[in-house]
Amino acid sequence: MSAAMEKDVVSLVETHYDQMIAFCQRCIQTPSLPGEEEDLAALVKAEMETLGYDEVWVDDWGNVVGLLRGRGSGRSVMFNGHLDHVDPGNADEWPYPPYGGEIHDGRLWGRGVADMKGPLAAMLYAVGVLAKEGMHPPGDVYVAGVVQEEVGGLGTQKLLQMVTPDVAVIGEATSNQLARGHRGRIEVVARVRGKSVHASVPEQGVNPHAVLARLIQGLEKLPLTQDETFGGSSVAPTLYLTDQKSSNVIPGEARLHLDWRNVPGETAEDVLAQIQPLLEACVEDVKGSHGELELHTRDLRTYTGCTETFPAVFPSYGLEANHPLVSQGRQVLESALSRPVEVVIWRFATDGGHLMEAGVPTIGFGPAEAKELHTVGESVPLEMLKDGMLGYLALALALGEGDT
Ligand SMILES: [Zn+2]
Repeated sequence: MSAAMEKDVVSLVETHYDQMIAFCQRCIQTPSLPGEEEDLAALVKAEMETLGYDEVWVDDWGNVVGLLRGRGSGRSVMFNGHLDHVDPGNADEWPYPPYGGEIHDGRLWGRGVADMKGPLAAMLYAVGVLAKEGMHPPGDVYVAGVVQEEVGGLGTQKLLQMVTPDVAVIGEATSNQLARGHRGRIEVVARVRGKSVHASVPEQGVNPHAVLARLIQGLEKLPLTQDETFGGSSVAPTLYLTDQKSSNVIPGEARLHLDWRNVPGETAEDVLAQIQPLLEACVEDVKGSHGELELHTRDLRTYTGCTETFPAVFPSYGLEANHPLVSQGRQVLESALSRPVEVVIWRFATDGGHLMEAGVPTIGFGPAEAKELHTVGESVPLEMLKDGMLGYLALALALGEGDT
């Protein structure tokens, strides 16, 4: 980018910053839990139309897509942010109302502001300002607000069947550094059956808890795949459910959910193969019990009425540190933000895995701090959102110039 252009870009951000923050506040004030993104989708669509995107549409699954047409000479770029957010929990524990979108101490507060209505507003405005000013990047630029990321990434997976960009940028939190990959997430369920009896005569039954207790202890000793860059695989028992509601009955079945974070190269089959012998040994220890493992699936329904049984699997991915998209993205951001930009690995999973599986090289750039995600009292520094918008603007203008 020329020095004159850089100055232009900075002044475009200055001029539209207040409007972008006000839009972000409206987004926070519009709750959008997975499967309930309709109102936010309408808000996002209307804002894209007002800003002058060349085309704006909502697909069958409820994803909103805005297109800024390029000059036809470059590769296409997608900025991807999700519309949904996790539950705010108890509103009384929040310092400010979770759906308030209030500004205090130089930060914008509310459920989803970091994950990821802040980044979404910044990317939507960055590209929207180009549309408004009639500035067309080399290739087409898409901004996608996708549904149901928090429950496995159904929205992005479906979107990619209709729109496949040449490269993508995911807006998950990087504190305005650049991310190039993450571990995956595979949700496994260990289902154990025993024999249900009155809790006063436990010796006549087979208690499935005895098996799962052994399994939980055994997991701690499981040799997990190590990886220098990604920090190794990890496993955490999370949900624990039984087929009983009465506390004086030994349940017939108990189910333990395992949240497995896999490094690139470790597949769901590999994960199941590591747990299977352990489960078999635990079942062997408790006579009369039976156990099996399965990948957890969710029956999802979009706000548009589409349904799908979706495996709770986020693929892992990693672009090489010297991948051209990583080098270019870093260079563009360093020049736009006038500071060094670190290349990082996300600790959590994103829709980037789905994009990479569809053959789309993907980097991450998100104006939010990872420590704020899914927390009570989620917030983002206003300055970070401003820099984020500047970063997105620079990326939107430059990434189309890379080799396809
Ligand atoms: Zn997110």
